[in-house]
Amino acid sequence: MSLATSRAWIEVDAGALRHNIAQLRRLLPEGCALLAVVKANAYGHGAAECAAICQKAGVTAFAVAAAAEGAALRESGIQGEILVLGCSGAEAVPLLSRYRLCQAVVSPDHARLLNACGVPLQVHWKVDTGMHRLGFAWDHPDDLTSVFTCQNLQSRGLFTHLSDAEAPDPESRRRTQRQIDRFFQTEQRLRRAGRDPGILHLQGSYGLLNYGGIPGCGWVRAGIALYGLLSSPNDVTRFSPDLRPVLSLRARVAQVHTLQSGETAGYDGAFLARRPSRLALVTIGYADGWPRSLSKGRGRVLVRGRYAPIAGLVCMDQMLIDVTGIPGVAPGDTVTLIGRDGDACLTAGETAQAADTITNELLSRLGARLERVVTDRSRPAPSPI
Ligand SMILES: *Cc1c(COP(=O)(O)O)cnc(C)c1O
Repeated sequence: MSLATSRAWIEVDAGALRHNIAQLRRLLPEGCALLAVVKANAYGHGAAECAAICQKAGVTAFAVAAAAEGAALRESGIQGEILVLGCSGAEAVPLLSRYRLCQAVVSPDHARLLNACGVPLQVHWKVDTGMHRLGFAWDHPDDLTSVFTCQNLQSRGLFTHLSDAEAPDPESRRRTQRQIDRFFQTEQRLRRAGRDPGILHLQGSYGLLNYGGIPGCGWVRAGIALYGLLSSPNDVTRFSPDLRPVLSLRARVAQVHTLQSGETAGYDGAFLARRPSRLALVTIGYADGWPRSLSKGRGRVLVRGRYAPIAGLVCMDQMLIDVTGIPGVAPGDTVTLIGRDGDACLTAGETAQAADTITNELLSRLGARLERVVTDRSRPAPSPI
């Protein structure tokens, strides 16, 4: 047991990440590249680790939410384009410039504010085609053309974001098609005004999985699919490439307790032994991002290849599990919260559902206190010298 794996840690399967990159690339049209979305610490997986694996696999475009995330990626050795999707203000400009980050520009005021900083910046223009989150209103085309040639803003691309790409019902598909049409109308208007929109991109994971390659796009911005998951495990998509989960989450058994019938355990006596019971203390808690809403048996974990329900309340740094039916559980045992243990498996999707959320939220909240360990099973281990 190393220090990294002595308490609670994430294993990042580099082979699975490379496999997913290859699978997604097969869906891309000619001339379209995969952009790896590594915001929020690569959905909890570890941004430096995942971006490095992507870069080795030939990925040359990355996206983050905040300028500081982009700066950290550059510091870790990531080259190529790093697009900041969030709406950075003037205070981020020194970082954007120093680390050669591309900034999304979302409105005429935003463009003027960044331009007025007097520092040349590379930008992608964000168009709001109906989601109403960020972007230039598609139906006010003059807004975009009027600031497109701002002196300090070097245009690199034009993009939008789809609000309903995951939903297969006819109304959602109509809304998505409308967004796609509005996006290309915006592109055409720019061209007619003599402006080159640069790289076009509008699809995230579900945009790709449900609509396939859209001719003319230079990038697809893949997040959750890159990590081998759907947001909700029961989603049905038009294309279903063989995606493999990249992340496993593990912790340790620290102590085992024997309870008599009628005894309680944990805060508020939230666990009541209805039979003679054995409880194991596991070294992970809600401060690590493991949801407290999984308390009292709503969530389960794997130990010694068997499922064990959570007993009582998840605490900040630890929790109890009921191992009454699992012989031999002892301090030092590995507990699998997400991933495989022998023939048994616990998916992020199952746990996200139990916690009443989506895999994106469950994973992106996994905390900084967890160690990230990169494993590479598809390659032979380096031979000891
Ligand atoms: C997060 C994000 C993505 C990636 O979305 P996934 O569904 O995880 O693939 C793409 N584009 C934008 C603008 C985003 O904010």
